[in-house]
This record gives sequence, C-alpha cells and structure tokens, in this order.
Amino acid sequence: MDGLSQERILSLFKKADALLQGHFRLTSGKHSEWYFEKIRLIENPAALEEIIDLLVGKINDEKREFEYVVSPAYGAIAIGFLAALKLGKKFAFSQRAEGKMIFRPGWAGLAAGTNAIVVEDILTTGGSIREVVDSLKERGVGIAGIYVLVDRTDGAVAIEGRPVGSLLALKVEAYEAEACPLCKAGAPLTKPGASDKK
Ligand SMILES: [Zn+2]
Repeated sequence: MDGLSQERILSLFKKADALLQGHFRLTSGKHSEWYFEKIRLIENPAALEEIIDLLVGKINDEKREFEYVVSPAYGAIAIGFLAALKLGKKFAFSQRAEGKMIFRPGWAGLAAGTNAIVVEDILTTGGSIREVVDSLKERGVGIAGIYVLVDRTDGAVAIEGRPVGSLLALKVEAYEAEACPLCKAGAPLTKPGASDKK
C-alpha cells in the first residue's frame, strides 16, 4: 500500500473510533499509547464497509484463486462475511468448542479440493489464524492467502511460511508499567472495556 492509502485507512479507523490514542492498560498488563477497539468496526457498519472495500481491492489485486472466505468467530465474522459478499465468494466461520478451533458440521462446500483465504481483524500473535489454518488443513482445504485489517507486528509474524497481507501494518509499542513514558508524564491510565486479547 502506498502512503496515501495508509493515511486513508488510519483515518477510517479513527473515524469509526476503532483506533484510540491515549494511555491504555492492555490485557497483557503492559501500557500503550494506542488501542484498537475493534468492536467499533462492527458497531459502525458504514465505516467498516469503507475499510473492507480497501481490503477487497488488495485481495483482488493479488488475483488468488479461492472459493471461500473464512474467519474465526466472533469478531471477524462481519468482516469476513462482508469481504466475501464483495468478492463474490462463499463464507464460513470457525469457532472454539472445548478449547479447539473447529468448523461446526453443516458447512456444505468447505471440503477437500476447495481453496480459502483467511480474514481476521487484528494480527497480534497470529494464534487464532494458525488455529483456523490448521482446522482448514484438517478438512483438506487449501490456503490461498491470509489477510488482516491491522498487523500490529508490522510484518514480523509469518504464518505457514507466508507473509500476512494487511491494510495497516504498524508496530504498537507496549511498555511495562515501570518503564512507561506515559506514566512518567503523568497521563491518566485507561483500561479499555473490550478484550484486546487474541
Ligand atoms: Zn503507563
């Protein structure tokens, strides 16, 4: 993506109140100047649609062959579904059952010989995406690509030996409380309500 597009995607996240600037205590206990409130994307469908249009443009540019867009429940369902609609593909979601990422029985076409791209909201460690990929491989489904809206590792995480396509890639610094420059500056600390854990 060029610089202009990065600016545009950042402004869309801010417009949706999905990217907050301040002084936040993350689920990990570390402090950060930035926080992604990804539930705002679901809460603001029009803003999400503008973001998905950019993602769909990127996916179309890469000309991969696939029949399915697959996302992990629940936060990414709306994202993957909207992307699938705009790409003219089928959609399926995986979910956790007894600690394991699975596809419930009933997905008619998600079978051996088909190909899928995986779409997730935010890449932090890649844990959920790896679980989705493993679950697809168990079914014999080929992985044609992996995409996220935001890559918080700035490209540091590869999955299945391939880079993760993202709209916005940025390294979000997180500090231990004792070393936090925002604490030193006396900025009030906020603990966001929604879970940021992935
Ligand atoms: Zn702090």
